[in-house]
Amino acid sequence: MENLRCSFCGELADENRKMIRRGNLCICNECAEDFNDEFKGLEGSNLERQRRPMLNPMQIKEKLDEYVIGQEEAKKTLSVAVYNHMKIINNPKKTKRAGVQKSNVLLIGPSGCGKTLLAQTLAKIIKVPFAIADATTLTEAGYVGEDVENILLKLIQAANYNIKEAQKGIIFIDEIDKIARKSENVSITRDVSGEGVQQALLKIIEGTVASVPGQGGRKHPMQEMIKIDTSNILFICSGAFEGLNQIVDARKEAEGITYSSALHEELTAADLLKFGLIPELIGRLQVITSLNPLDEQDLVHIMKEPRNSLIKQYQTLLEFDHVDLEFEDDAIQSIAQLAIERHTGARGLRTIIEKIMRDVMYLVPSNEDIKKVIITQETVLFNDDPVFIFADKNVS
Ligand code: ADP
Repeated sequence: MENLRCSFCGELADENRKMIRRGNLCICNECAEDFNDEFKGLEGSNLERQRRPMLNPMQIKEKLDEYVIGQEEAKKTLSVAVYNHMKIINNPKKTKRAGVQKSNVLLIGPSGCGKTLLAQTLAKIIKVPFAIADATTLTEAGYVGEDVENILLKLIQAANYNIKEAQKGIIFIDEIDKIARKSENVSITRDVSGEGVQQALLKIIEGTVASVPGQGGRKHPMQEMIKIDTSNILFICSGAFEGLNQIVDARKEAEGITYSSALHEELTAADLLKFGLIPELIGRLQVITSLNPLDEQDLVHIMKEPRNSLIKQYQTLLEFDHVDLEFEDDAIQSIAQLAIERHTGARGLRTIIEKIMRDVMYLVPSNEDIKKVIITQETVLFNDDPVFIFADKNVS
């Protein structure tokens, strides 16, 4: 038989690759299938394409910049990871044939520095379903607690039960460090809290067809099961990994390494193993990046700059009462200092501002003469009244 070669992918015909010839042109079954899928996408609607724009990594990072302050390294790393994720979900067959594997992500950084925010914002940018899970609530199947499959159910729900969409989504697993094995040595009695959960997570992270109980909760035989393929779901795991620095430092000292750089650049699989992650899971988290603790200046930026910054949110709320809201610069600085003292990262900012704003939001709607409210440093530090500017006179 003549050796036919596909005019599109250049592959030769064999027992798996069938060819159709028209004149001088050949097409193989796999290219034909790909084109067919593309046509279906066009037919269904052009929406599919519009909904999922193929942004390049720089464009993804620019979008992240609108919402997330600082964390440049993490933003760059994630932009590339998500760009590749898009290639896989847009071309599942081609990438599968070429053996392209997804790269799941591990984010390491203290609480309240933007790990969840980054993952959440990414899902929004690329318009895929997104679900958050807390690793500490998970248990090995058969124990009291949440089954790992429930994470998938959350994603399915986020996709409005559209399984095809859910299979392209992002799952964020927080506090992954809290399910580390307690000891580096495998003990004779199984460590239920740690290794078992890691094993269960590993299965869905590396890619499997999972059966998810449609109603959530624990599996039972009469329940309707939803099947979902997790191969192309992007997993972003995150944790503070307290103590990991010391493990890295001890190893460096033993190896006589004196230079130092960002944690994620120094980190080896052996360090994560020593911390208590199982090797198979480490192997599946190919992209590792670390986030920095936020300093006072970062917190100031966070309050003012993101598209949905806290100050902008309260300004919008007061706009409905036709009142301008201003935070003086030293007031903002003091709020940042308070949050730093409380060690809550950016998470504490909302609590502090909410407390300051409560009385303002109580008072303003019943006083139509108030045109502007100025929050001063004294308001923040000593609970003094803010400055109220009235329609025709200025009373503080
Ligand atoms: P974690 O690192 O613990 O996952 P989050 O991402 O949940 O922290 O941060 C909590 C909140 O603090 C966010 O919802 C956001 O409002 C704010 N925040 C934290 N880090 C940043 C950041 N780098 N830029 C902008 N806002 C941030």
